[in-house]
Amino acid sequence: MIAAFCESLDKFARANIDARRIDAAHKIEPSILHGLAELGVFGASIPEEYGGSELGLEGVCAVVTALARHDRSVATTVGLHLGLGTRGLVAFGSDALKERWLPDIASGKKLAAFATTEAGAGSDLAAIRTRGMEEDGALVVNGEKIYVTNGGLADVYTITASTPGLGGARRGHSLLLLERDDVGVKRGAEEDKLGLRGSSTNTMYFDDARIPLDRVIGVAGEGMTHLAHVLAWGRTAMAAGCIGSATAALEATVAHVAHRQQFGKTLDAFEVVQDQVSEMAATRFAMQAVVHAAATGPRLLSASTTAKILCSEGSWDITDMAIQLHGGSGYIEETGIALILRDARVTRIFEGANDVLRTHLGLLEATVPAERARLAGRSPLGAVADALHDTLTELRTDAARRFGIKLGRQQRILHRLGELALLRDSCDAVVELASAPDAPSNAMDLASRWLHVARLRSLAPISEFADASSPVLPFSGVAHA
Ligand SMILES: Cc1cc2nc3c(=O)[nH]c(=O)nc-3n(C[C@H](O)[C@H](O)[C@H](O)COP(=O)(O)OP(=O)(O)OC[C@H]3O[C@@H](n4cnc5c(N)ncnc54)[C@H](O)[C@@H]3O)c2cc1C
Repeated sequence: MIAAFCESLDKFARANIDARRIDAAHKIEPSILHGLAELGVFGASIPEEYGGSELGLEGVCAVVTALARHDRSVATTVGLHLGLGTRGLVAFGSDALKERWLPDIASGKKLAAFATTEAGAGSDLAAIRTRGMEEDGALVVNGEKIYVTNGGLADVYTITASTPGLGGARRGHSLLLLERDDVGVKRGAEEDKLGLRGSSTNTMYFDDARIPLDRVIGVAGEGMTHLAHVLAWGRTAMAAGCIGSATAALEATVAHVAHRQQFGKTLDAFEVVQDQVSEMAATRFAMQAVVHAAATGPRLLSASTTAKILCSEGSWDITDMAIQLHGGSGYIEETGIALILRDARVTRIFEGANDVLRTHLGLLEATVPAERARLAGRSPLGAVADALHDTLTELRTDAARRFGIKLGRQQRILHRLGELALLRDSCDAVVELASAPDAPSNAMDLASRWLHVARLRSLAPISEFADASSPVLPFSGVAHA
């Protein structure tokens, strides 16, 4: 069912979506959004009882991948709606909230957005200042949210606010549902961006916005816990979009190197080019594997973080190599690759800056090491994944012995632990996907190549990171350079 749906999206996109036109116009033509609504795309994450098709996270990922192959602004608009924009309401909303909003959200009549970031609270979400204060049986919301994707198009916003006292939590946060037409809700002008120019991005202002208390999504005061789940969904869907854009860049490159001739032969006759294209394909396979693991596996929180980092960096690397192999033509907008690169850049920043997330992964690995079965006996490739796991365990054990409970403050080591955890999890996911009965015929080759890449990336000597006396360039000197 998911595959057939994505085929219909692909067909629609080929006939109706022109990425360069959307980029130039800085907006998506309403006819495209209407057409997608008619196909049922906006209900892909919504339960059937509210008019959706309930495809689950795996289905949402497939939808976003299919769209991103054609245009990242469209994929972002739809993906944000299906992920961050609606997940809170679907997973935690009361029946009354769902009955009131989900049918219109599923049909595409109302678009959803998600507003958490503030000027002073980007990576540091604990610094959120937007407040919802209980007053005479209502909630009065004041604050400002920046960089709200779909901000200019949406009717329904899930926002994160500090709600002191609400639900008995003295310092709690809550997810709140606000509507575009609520009194006190205003939106700012569209941002001018490097890429994703067709996707709407605005500041939202909440100025004494008064909403009923039943607009709290989930448990009052438990907003940060709910947020972790919503972000995990959103990050997985976003990572899936990176697969779509990487696929577009890879396909264009394979076609280009097959016909472009230099030195009397086509580019794909050169060994170096063959290696580069193989690595692009292996990276894309790893991206597919980690998204599959996040969307279908039991550890959504850590797996979604791995998928977000690996896919955003993978699509950047693939697109960068695509431009390189296109030569000068890759740098010219007409080829379309330059646009993919501009669109791709933000994926390493939004939904959590990658280095912040790497450090989170490292902290998670330091405090709750992943339980993992050894793979060597199951697959010929499993030994590489096991070796990575052993390297990680060695670093973690050594760091824990040396720093004890202060390990949580050793950012360089946590960051390195996070990188190793990410590589280990990517290898596990790749081995899993390559061993699946329906794996493509070249899956073992792709997996083998990715394991090689991961092993090389893991080789930076552990001592360099674990040794507190390793040379670190004094930051004050850098700052005055
Ligand atoms: C186009 C676009 C769309 C967006 N859409 C949404 C949306 O729909 N809803 C929403 O709520 N937000 C949205 N965002 C916001 C986005 O999630 C934030 O920009 C992102 O989380 C980073 O926050 P920041 O920009 O404040 O960067 P900062 O937190 O200021 O960080 C800047 C950089 O400093 C470094 N850094 C920061 N902290 C650390 C650390 N602890 N360790 C190591 N390095 C660190 C990282 O390199 C980071 O990239 C969007 C942003 C953009 C650009």
